[in-house]
Amino acid sequence: MAVAVPRSTPGATRVLTFQPLEIAAERCKGCELCIRACPKHCLALDTGLVNPLGYHPIRLTDAAACTSCALCARICPDVVFTVYAAPRRGEPA
Ligand code: SF4
Ligand code: SF4
Repeated sequence: MAVAVPRSTPGATRVLTFQPLEIAAERCKGCELCIRACPKHCLALDTGLVNPLGYHPIRLTDAAACTSCALCARICPDVVFTVYAAPRRGEPA
């Protein structure tokens, strides 16, 4: 996974630039199938939002925990997820 670390600031917090999921939140029906399927427990409904269909949409809670396994995309009946493989070492994020 690509990270950006400012060289001039020893001990600085790492900033993740790679985002493993693209989420079409407007299509989510809040069925929670993907939440139960995710082995890393990094999906949750966003109870602070209501989408145009009237549901709380899914959100990724921890991008660093996501392994791009795509189980969420395989089980989602509404094609909400696009999953990206993590860049290999040396590739730009
Ligand atoms: S790609 Fe895998 S680890 Fe990432 S959110 Fe989906 S099910 Fe979870
Ligand atoms: S499986 Fe699809 S429709 Fe159901 S909560 Fe997850 S993203 Fe939304």
